[in-house]
Amino acid sequence: SGERVYRVRVSPPRQNEKRNQTGTVMIISDITEMKMMQQKLERHAYFDELTQICNRRAFFERCEEEFVKAKRGDVPFTIVLFDIDNFKKVNDTYGHNAGDQVLVHVANIINSCLKENMLFARYGGEEFVLALFGKTVSYGKIFAESLRQQIASRPLVLNGTVIRVTSSFGVAEASGDERETLQNLLHCSDKALYEAKRGGRNRVSVYKGARV
Ligand code: GH3
Ligand code: MG
Ligand code: MG
Repeated sequence: SGERVYRVRVSPPRQNEKRNQTGTVMIISDITEMKMMQQKLERHAYFDELTQICNRRAFFERCEEEFVKAKRGDVPFTIVLFDIDNFKKVNDTYGHNAGDQVLVHVANIINSCLKENMLFARYGGEEFVLALFGKTVSYGKIFAESLRQQIASRPLVLNGTVIRVTSSFGVAEASGDERETLQNLLHCSDKALYEAKRGGRNRVSVYKGARV
């Protein structure tokens, strides 16, 4: 928009030896560009430029409070980690730019499926993560399964070319153990994700191993 931001500074006038001046001095400066630069830096720090969703840093910061609640045993907390299957082949076949568009496409699909109290972020290259606040692993499994189906059934059509992708999912719930960290929990969901890959991809796997 054409809106501009101004900073207004008000101060008494400089003392004059000869005359006793009254009134105030008002300095109005246009700080629109500075504000825009500031906002851009903030977006850079917390958002992923390509997909326009939260980045990893934002994810960890915004999860912390909910994770602490989960550790007190107040509410469940579940992580869904997923990774696009055979993404290298997508890049090799259609080009890196098409690969980028696939990432945007997948992020859009997930965004359209999100409900309240869910945090979605780009975790790494073609890895995404969801925190489900107040949800158990059984809910997470069902939800991840619906996301898996959505991705598999909605190919990206790019300049008339149909690009199909699938994703593998790992789901893990916070144990409630006071020693558990968010990193530990992500490691558990990563193990489950690895199982989903090993099991043939395009599937959801739940973490069943030992805890911290
Ligand atoms: P897997 O099913 O085991 O996950 O196979 P994969 O081919 O997806 O393997 P892997 O996860 O190891 O490879 C990820 C590839 O994703 C490697 C990298 O070149 C590509 N990649 C990572 N970030 C981006 C990105 O931002 N854009 C594009 N186009 N490619 C990316
Ligand atoms: Mg990967
Ligand atoms: Mg992959």
